[in-house]
Amino acid sequence: MSTLYEVRGSSAVITLNNPPVNGLGLATRQAIVAAIERAEADPVVTAVVMTGAGAAFSGGADIKEFGSPKAMSEPNLPSVVALVEACSKPVVAAVHSVCMGGGLELALSCHYRVVAAGTKVALPEVKLGLLPGAGGTQRLPRALGVEAALNLIVSGEIVAAELLAQVPGQKLFDRVVAGEVLEAALAFAAEVAAQRPLPRVRDLPATHANPEAFFQFARNMVAAQSRNFPAPLRCLEAVAAAVNLPFEQGLRAEREGFAALMITPESKALRHAFVAERAASKIADLPPGTPLREIRQVAVIGAGTMGSGIAMNFLNAGLPVVLVESQAEALERGLARIRGAYEAQLSKGKLKQDKLDARLALLRGSLSYADIAEADLVIEAVFEDLDVKRQVFEQIDAAAKPGAILASNTSTLDINTIAGFTRRPQDVLGLHFFSPAQVMKLLEVVRGAATGHDVLATAMALAKKIRKTAVVAGVCDGFIGNRMIEQYARQAGFLLDEGCSPEQVDRAAEAFGFAMGPFRMNDLAGNDISWAIRKRRAIERPEQRYSQSADRLCERGRFGQKTQAGWYDYRPGRREALPSPEVAALLAEHRAALGLQPRQIRDEEIVERLVLALVNEGARLLEEGIAQRASDIDMVYLSGYGFPLWRGGPMCYADSLGLFNVLQAMKRLARNPMDDAAFWEPAPLLQRLVAQGKSFNG
Ligand code: NAD
Repeated sequence: MSTLYEVRGSSAVITLNNPPVNGLGLATRQAIVAAIERAEADPVVTAVVMTGAGAAFSGGADIKEFGSPKAMSEPNLPSVVALVEACSKPVVAAVHSVCMGGGLELALSCHYRVVAAGTKVALPEVKLGLLPGAGGTQRLPRALGVEAALNLIVSGEIVAAELLAQVPGQKLFDRVVAGEVLEAALAFAAEVAAQRPLPRVRDLPATHANPEAFFQFARNMVAAQSRNFPAPLRCLEAVAAAVNLPFEQGLRAEREGFAALMITPESKALRHAFVAERAASKIADLPPGTPLREIRQVAVIGAGTMGSGIAMNFLNAGLPVVLVESQAEALERGLARIRGAYEAQLSKGKLKQDKLDARLALLRGSLSYADIAEADLVIEAVFEDLDVKRQVFEQIDAAAKPGAILASNTSTLDINTIAGFTRRPQDVLGLHFFSPAQVMKLLEVVRGAATGHDVLATAMALAKKIRKTAVVAGVCDGFIGNRMIEQYARQAGFLLDEGCSPEQVDRAAEAFGFAMGPFRMNDLAGNDISWAIRKRRAIERPEQRYSQSADRLCERGRFGQKTQAGWYDYRPGRREALPSPEVAALLAEHRAALGLQPRQIRDEEIVERLVLALVNEGARLLEEGIAQRASDIDMVYLSGYGFPLWRGGPMCYADSLGLFNVLQAMKRLARNPMDDAAFWEPAPLLQRLVAQGKSFNG
């Protein structure tokens, strides 16, 4: 039953009942209509109270209906809202816990609203590239005032009900109660049962003292803050319509805005990312109800850049951490790095002193593996060297208790080989954090051939606890993210060989929307790191061609920001990347030595080569089963590699181009003699999808 109906005294109580958050799916909407009709027809009923079961009034749209025609099937939400508003008996919303999106629009159609203090209120549609499409943009400005409503609608942020109730002149909430909201709403319903005419939000004025100047100012602000996203401005125009047009015309403007946004690539991308994030936590072959191992204590081995950042994740989640090092100075440095990071948060006002103290109290440093004996999870973050990993995992195996989960943060090494260094490969997996590990959202959970189901399930649950976006990857060199970025970096190198400057490539990538172009990114990460990987690759895969300009750069000690010289020049203590005459000369020399004539390269070609390199490698990862689904690859790139959110990730972007076009572009790129024709052979999966007229994301 997606709503419950009962009569209490002379009030009908309609309780939305669609767990977990009373999403307004078709069945629920049908049930609301039936319940309102029943209340209308019952002569005993003089008023109606509408509330939600469990932990929400309503969270809004039902995400299971996302993208399906069901979402708009009649009775759709605008129709339900109209029906509730037209009810001949007073309808009182008893709002509690969560009241968002369509849930708030439904509450706004009720004649009265009684709210529990602490209720989270929002119209978050803008975060999916949409606007509230069931009258929210017309009713909220009338109920709450134009400025406060505009803020809520354009930002999508969550605000506590009691704060909104303080807005001068607001009519959003008739009563804020501290205790039982249903009882309070029933009492309120008894008071207003005879009240006529029934108050409707639509009849309130939406006014502003100086609307023209206000909206012009707001337009400039919103436009500056929402480049690449059309929804915030459309939200603003819908609110302006509430002020400038009669209610019904305003509703029409809202509906037009909603329909226009629904088909924008930006909204499609945002909705894709929303669904992708939820899908990523599901593992197809994990039996439901797989038991979890309890994680109460964590050990991190290696107190370097990654180890200290990884430790902070668990301290932040309230778990005790022992940080183990082989060297006393390295341990001191690691502990100091953690303290320093917390102190920086304190000085920025992002952390309170008592929280800082509590987190540091959970941290212990050690130079002995004996101190990991109590840990339920051990994460290794030592040098990226298989021999070092072997020594470390043998010691972990000897010291850790039975049933402890043993993880490696390796970026490229084989988890199966690492698992083989222990007598318990079923307990071993990869937990690949990204730098800075306490900040970056992405966590690649690398599943070894022997990794136990419970180990995998526990890792996914733990990721949620430390607020990471976890994506499962199979074992291969570089897993999902780094295996793809290698092809992207190779293209960036070829572009230099063929005539681009690092600035041109970065500018084009950044104009496409990457947070940082490939060369600025390498300067930040350290060119020496990719140099070491290339040296290893030269032995493992001597046939793979790459631009050796990066090697020439490293031979001159230009490792990036840390040496104040990389692909760019840097002034001491500054991060601003300055075009480098030395690098321009180095590239000219490099091309001359190879007998290459530089050519003019368009920005479109730069973007096409960088992004389609990700797409082709992504398709291979999918085919090999390293990635479970195309949307997982998109999540990796959105949450770990600065791929523009409004493009939805590389695979979603390829879908938006049309896979036929992508395939043709790859065939064209393969004809460039300076490029790698074998790489541009379209992945078989891509060819199959084109032949079947399908896309990566279904
Ligand atoms: P790092 O050099 O900053 O730190 C490594 C630390 O391990 C050093 O403090 C060292 O003293 C310590 N160590 C070495 N041998 C040890 C041993 N036997 N026992 C205990 N401690 C020992 O390196 P990092 O950048 O933190 O990288 C660590 C791991 O994380 C590597 O596998 C790397 O590939 C991976 N990783 C790095 C990044 C990154 O951006 N730096 C990102 C993801 C993964």
